[in-house]
Amino acid sequence: MAAITMKNIVKQYGDGFPAVNDVSIDVADGEFMILVGPSGCGKSTLLRMIVGLEDITSGDMLIGDRRVNDLAPRERNLAMVFQNYALYPHLTVYENIAFPLRLAKMSDDEVDRLVRDASDTLELNEHLERKPGNLSGGQRQRVAMGRAIVRQADAFLFDEPLSNLDAKLRGQMRTEIARLQKRLGITTVYVTHDQTEAMTLGDRVAVLKRGLLQQLATPRELYENP
Ligand code: ADP
Ligand code: ADP
Repeated sequence: MAAITMKNIVKQYGDGFPAVNDVSIDVADGEFMILVGPSGCGKSTLLRMIVGLEDITSGDMLIGDRRVNDLAPRERNLAMVFQNYALYPHLTVYENIAFPLRLAKMSDDEVDRLVRDASDTLELNEHLERKPGNLSGGQRQRVAMGRAIVRQADAFLFDEPLSNLDAKLRGQMRTEIARLQKRLGITTVYVTHDQTEAMTLGDRVAVLKRGLLQQLATPRELYENP
């Protein structure tokens, strides 16, 4: 069973050309799937329909074997990972990671166990008492991922997380995200307009153009048959 199944997904705004036009993609368990294409091709809209931030005009969206078309974002158990503006600047790294657990009214002991597990995995142990403003971009990214891990989300969703960084940092972060994704084994859908990012990060790449799925292939297949 696929982790995320998009079946004949259509998004129509008003009466123009559909923003997403009959797109079907299966994301396998643990797979790193890239949605790539030029600005306006529909990739953010598709990602927002997976998370539940955008209504689906027609088609079926499944997470595991559950149809989620009519479920609110918080009922889907997915984690949108933002670059940095979703971290709370006044809270420490520890409390930022713990935040969803506090909301769920978990005991202090349980919170502590989960936060320490996540910070071990993400190599954040030395930074737990710091505030986001004093962290590097890469460290902030890991804190955002930590918050998703403790929630035991079924998948990570990224919307152009590196687009505001300079080239050098972007390269470093790309390597780091790829490494962490493989280590965590968590299903990931990642939106980018950057070909290099698509070809180096993805297990498979879905190429969109004007709302249509043009190609769905591994980076190697795309390289050999562009
Ligand atoms: P991308 O993420 O690939 O840049 P988007 O998914 O943001 O593309 O947009 C796809 C198309 O849908 C574009 O033509 C965009 O203008 C249009 N669109 C996106 N959001 C809306 C909206 N809320 N209302 C009307 N049109 C929209
Ligand atoms: P992106 O950076 O993903 O391409 P945009 O800057 O195109 O996003 O869009 C920012 C916001 O404006 C989004 O919430 C999107 O839904 C909305 N939007 C985009 N295109 C249109 C449009 N043609 N009409 C109305 N809203 C739009």
